[in-house]
Amino acid sequence: CGIIGILGKHEVSPQLVDSLRRLEYRGYDSAGVATIDAEGRLDRRRAVGKLVNLSDLLVHNPLPGHAGIGHTRWATHGAATEVNAHPHKSGPVAVVHNGIIENFRELRQELIGLGFQPQSQTDTETVALLTAHHMAEGMDAVSAARATLARLHGAFALAFLFDGEGDLMIAARKGSPLAIGHGEGEMFIGSDAVALAPFTDRITYLEDGDCAVLTRNSLQIFDVEGNQTNRAQSRIDVGS
Ligand code: GLU
Repeated sequence: CGIIGILGKHEVSPQLVDSLRRLEYRGYDSAGVATIDAEGRLDRRRAVGKLVNLSDLLVHNPLPGHAGIGHTRWATHGAATEVNAHPHKSGPVAVVHNGIIENFRELRQELIGLGFQPQSQTDTETVALLTAHHMAEGMDAVSAARATLARLHGAFALAFLFDGEGDLMIAARKGSPLAIGHGEGEMFIGSDAVALAPFTDRITYLEDGDCAVLTRNSLQIFDVEGNQTNRAQSRIDVGS
């Protein structure tokens, strides 16, 4: 299972799939990508089975855009179906996730009580729903994602994209690794530096509990206490 995210200068769908291939060694049962196109529209494609199924789908039904997130899933909650594959989407929010949200059942009940109708059986979808709920209540994307993160128990690496926000990505980790890659006017996230090797060797590893707010030209990191912090950037030699 793996996560990749790109705020780039090129069509990201093929880049996302190539990077997901570099994470194949972790194992997976389905895969998906979401992008934001030139008009700011958020859309996604998902496929069960091998990454070639996703890349075939993208040939027949392309997903343009220079910002995107991708995921390979190793199902923990909900069968390996297209509906359960990531990215999960609710309103303006798309989310990819590795790990387990341990309190998803109570969050799910709360969200159903608020009138939301989950489409999948996954723990992950509650993250998208809760963030969409916060935005519907008037929060901006960053505040909404951070309010959601504060409610989550369990182990996770997460990445968020938002409709209408072609230069914003939010990433967070607790118990699962996540690396930020620095490009020239581009920014990347990935489950490991190997996935980012085609793009950059300048890597910042997030620490446990960190939440990162990325644009193509900026990176802000908030620690587990919510305070803005700095994490070292290093050059990694992972080959290409
Ligand atoms: N718990 C999530 C799911 O079952 C994520 C699994 C993973 O790490 O890929 O969809």
